[in-house]
Amino acid sequence: MKINKILISIFFICLSVSSTHANRMPPREAILACEGKSMQETCQFQDRKGILSGVCNDKPGIMSCAPNRGKQTFKEKLRPPKQNSYTNSKASSQSSSTQTKYSKSISGSNKFKLEVWVDNWFSAYAEDQLIIEDSVSITTERSFNSESVTFESDYPLHLNFVLKDFKQNDTGLEYIGKHNQQIGDGGFIMQVTDMNSNKVIAVSNKNMKCMVVHKAPLNKSCKNSSSPQAGMSPCEYKTTDEPIDWKKSNFDDSSWKNAYEHSKRSVRPKGGYDNINWSSNAKLIWSKDLELDNTVLCRIRIENPKEKINTTYLSSNSKSEVSSVFNYFHSNNVHVSESDQYIQVSSDGIPSGELMVGIKSWQQQVPLPQNYSGDNAWLLTKNPQPSSKNLSLSSNFYMGAVGLAVDGIPIFNPLNNRGDDAYLVGELDHMGGHSGRADDYHYHTAPTHLNSIVGNDKPIAFILDGYALYGFYEPNGEKVDYSTLDKNKGHRHDGIGYHYHASVEYPYINQSMYGKVKISLDSRGNTNFISPQPKTKPLRKSLEPLRGAEITGFTVNDEKTKFSLTYKLKGKGYTLYYQLTNDTWKFTIPNHDGTNRVESYKAVKNNKFVHSHSH
Ligand SMILES: [Zn+2]
Ligand SMILES: [Zn+2]
Repeated sequence: MKINKILISIFFICLSVSSTHANRMPPREAILACEGKSMQETCQFQDRKGILSGVCNDKPGIMSCAPNRGKQTFKEKLRPPKQNSYTNSKASSQSSSTQTKYSKSISGSNKFKLEVWVDNWFSAYAEDQLIIEDSVSITTERSFNSESVTFESDYPLHLNFVLKDFKQNDTGLEYIGKHNQQIGDGGFIMQVTDMNSNKVIAVSNKNMKCMVVHKAPLNKSCKNSSSPQAGMSPCEYKTTDEPIDWKKSNFDDSSWKNAYEHSKRSVRPKGGYDNINWSSNAKLIWSKDLELDNTVLCRIRIENPKEKINTTYLSSNSKSEVSSVFNYFHSNNVHVSESDQYIQVSSDGIPSGELMVGIKSWQQQVPLPQNYSGDNAWLLTKNPQPSSKNLSLSSNFYMGAVGLAVDGIPIFNPLNNRGDDAYLVGELDHMGGHSGRADDYHYHTAPTHLNSIVGNDKPIAFILDGYALYGFYEPNGEKVDYSTLDKNKGHRHDGIGYHYHASVEYPYINQSMYGKVKISLDSRGNTNFISPQPKTKPLRKSLEPLRGAEITGFTVNDEKTKFSLTYKLKGKGYTLYYQLTNDTWKFTIPNHDGTNRVESYKAVKNNKFVHSHSH
């Protein structure tokens, strides 16, 4: 009997084992993960231990996601179905909370939490390592779940997102053939928390760079079509290949557009959106066209916030951050490169806009292209350091530049070398600039006109101590509270780090240097200047003021070889022309008696000698 009992138990054990085998089905999550995919396509799903990556196959008799790791067996005991809000049942979506998953697919020394809501599907990568793929298939209509995942990685963190709005096919439509056939619209919001500090360190906003890779339909009237056919009028679509290596940290995204911030009203976030406690800085973004742009790639680089302490926005001065603001000016030949210590900015010294116009006290100097490149480029320190000296601009730096505007034009002391306010004495044009002795154009006030190009949330210049100069607004859109500025005319708030602000009245830029600068004495010992900085060399001898003249017009051709400058003198109009042919600048200069004189100068090749600024 005893033996029989044992045999029976063995039999039952065998039976139970084999029946387990017979019934072994992949978990529902693994099946969902391969919905709409083909054999051997990569997939990902979550089990009790975390996120598993694998490939789709139909071994168990149903297409499902088989994890890559060795002899992974599916857990018998499945988690209760995740309370995702993608179901059409509103009740379940509202009561559910988003459970935080753990992604094992990558590793690093910092722990992060990524929270995402997207209409309608996304995948997220740290560089090219998959962190998470939306657990609800793209083929699920009305998928408004949010996702929360923790993962390990290192700073700087490069996150890449593939964002897809639901579309039934390449027409870009959803509910095809139903009464509510329509063009779907997208929407995406995310935030990243550093789990050590428990602080949100990055959010979705217009600083992210995005590229549209699927746009449909190109013609909105497609949605009224009774039998919409993708690719057939009016339902044409446009697809663009994903750039190779777009997920790599060194990918050059300077040609990508900034993400577009959409209002809550236009995105109408729902479902799992409310399960996440969003930072007020996290914005709903997409490309500009919420409806027609169906698949969008977006990138963000996240610096170590600890390294940002004592530095500005950009004065952790990584190339991608700094170039993001100089990049608006590629057409002015402004380009950025990087060395160990410095961000190097090259420029031809000729900005866009109505330069010179409005000058009432004119020294007869004109804007000539300058060779601010190579070893004569502008240098911004990558590691600005506060100084105990705070050198004042009212007693220092009467020579040379004190800052560099983001359009590649130097900013000089608001006081000219006689100690006069250059703006008040009428020496400046409407942009706050004029040309110096080397016919080098420069500003003497804050170039706040650049805010209309870069936006109010970005610096318009960097002072040569490495700290950023913003305009009349704070990055959050509020007007500057000038009572919060220190004696240098800067302050620190909202995690942006130390920065200066422009003012309408003197000193227009910073009053003194918050940060350390290296100084050199001018040869006569009268003043000092900040070094290193590019040098300029006069082409012609410096000129006398032309009393009573007012500059009324300025033109330049695209190649910056042909210029004209129009002015009024004693009620009459005159035009000075200058142009470059074969390394020679030819000036045609009015004599103010009805005749002109022509002067020719060999173009300057090396800007080695003189620090130009003197009036
Ligand atoms: Zn000047
Ligand atoms: Zn501020």
